[in-house]
Amino acid sequence: MPYHNEPTIDYGVAEHRDKLLAALEQVKAEFGKTYPLYIGGKQITTDTTLKSVNPAKHAEIIGHVSQAHQAHIDAAVMAANEAFSSWSQTTFEERAMYLVKAAAVIRRRKAELMAWQIYESGKNWDEADGDVNEAIDFLEFYARQAIELGKGKELVPYPGEDNRMVYLPLGVGAVIPPWNFPLAILTGTTVAALVTGNTVILKPSPLSSVMAAKFVEIMNEIRLPAGVLNFVPGPPEEIGDYMVAHKDVRFISFTGSKTTGLHIDETAHRVSEGQRWIKRVIAEMGGKDGIVVDETADVEAAASAIVAAAFAFQGQKCSAGSRAIIHEDVYDEVVEKVVAKAKVLQVGAPAENAAVGPVIDEKSFAKVTKYIEIGKQEARLVLGGTADDKVGYFVQPTIFADAKPDARIMQEEIFGPVLAICKVKSFEEGIDVFNNTEYGLTGAVFTRERARLEYARRYMMCGNLYFNRKCTGSLVGIQPFGGFNMSGTDAKAGSGDYLLNFVQPKTVTEQF
Ligand code: GLU
Repeated sequence: MPYHNEPTIDYGVAEHRDKLLAALEQVKAEFGKTYPLYIGGKQITTDTTLKSVNPAKHAEIIGHVSQAHQAHIDAAVMAANEAFSSWSQTTFEERAMYLVKAAAVIRRRKAELMAWQIYESGKNWDEADGDVNEAIDFLEFYARQAIELGKGKELVPYPGEDNRMVYLPLGVGAVIPPWNFPLAILTGTTVAALVTGNTVILKPSPLSSVMAAKFVEIMNEIRLPAGVLNFVPGPPEEIGDYMVAHKDVRFISFTGSKTTGLHIDETAHRVSEGQRWIKRVIAEMGGKDGIVVDETADVEAAASAIVAAAFAFQGQKCSAGSRAIIHEDVYDEVVEKVVAKAKVLQVGAPAENAAVGPVIDEKSFAKVTKYIEIGKQEARLVLGGTADDKVGYFVQPTIFADAKPDARIMQEEIFGPVLAICKVKSFEEGIDVFNNTEYGLTGAVFTRERARLEYARRYMMCGNLYFNRKCTGSLVGIQPFGGFNMSGTDAKAGSGDYLLNFVQPKTVTEQF
């Protein structure tokens, strides 16, 4: 069957709503369980476990997750190495079939998987729906792309010779996904490595490790051979560098903050004793994304896009539009509309499908509130500015107007529901302000001028650029995702090219 994106579900329809409500109840009854590590196909429950809590109600424990120590990493790398000898010899088609089966299981368990992340990650219903759909999309898409890759590369014919180029897997990979797309990015990064014939040690974020354990459960349900995927949640400060520097780890696929990404890059490129290759690092990091609006734009559509991009999932997407750059002729009108639209966003429990939920944890709450104080010094607060962490980590949607291009709230990634708005005198100045950051992930432009769209196409420096729509919500296969500069290696998740990160091409020439 040709690939198509998984459809979103309308929870206004009673049948769908009831199914999700039932799943929310059912999952609640399973809170507090302990989840094991998986190494070489064996479950290991450790003495030390990590509590995963509901960010909307931090007294509520979602589950306890076993914690890997360095000895577990050694065992996991060894198991992955052993499994590599047979897994690397399976065909692309065989491996692709595992992905298609996993997609079928996730589709079947969709409401339940949504419920887990609604509680553990603070996603509302639409965001959770999007995340689970994206996980299914990655599976279905990479399965098909892998089959294509398995055919090898078409080369220029040469008389008297048979020339072929085929793609071989690399080896054992350390996959370190983020908490903000707890099933989607975890699935995408893991299965891209697996379908190309590598074996994996998976270290999820401590903040979404129950969701990760559910993914591993599913991969066991489809009977992935032992050792192909090893699950090692654990304290980053103890096992992070250890696994990255491990001599038998061939590549690292990381998604998360700039600071951690750069640290991983540096650690991975120091050669360990006995290491026989240059490690490959695939790093998707942060963003300081923005939306530029000129004086010809549809201001209503622009304001809606700015609000959606800034506040959906509390601004905790690396694609979030945390800057709005507005032409002076429409500035007051756009600011007024943005404030009006953000003001009515209801802040509350994701399980009740509030528009804006909590930020992920205490550390994030402290960081976001610190930036709100910085913003109050740097710009004019026009909405929000308050926060309350008594029950959950709630921050009101916050908007600062009249921010200067070099203000910290215009430069630094906050990863929370905070929007900075900046006034510019011309469209070109708007593009310059947009480009004035060390990141380069997503951006958007609202204009009715064709020439300006073409100018933006050429000069806006970001990996994902959108015209006359919001800068979040890339779809697998449709908008391959990844950014420039300090946003990462621009690996373009959700494209066929992405799989090339996990293989090494081999050319064989036979003369006859
Ligand atoms: N691909 C997602 C989007 O376009 C963002 C992924 C991320 O935040 O890491 O919104």
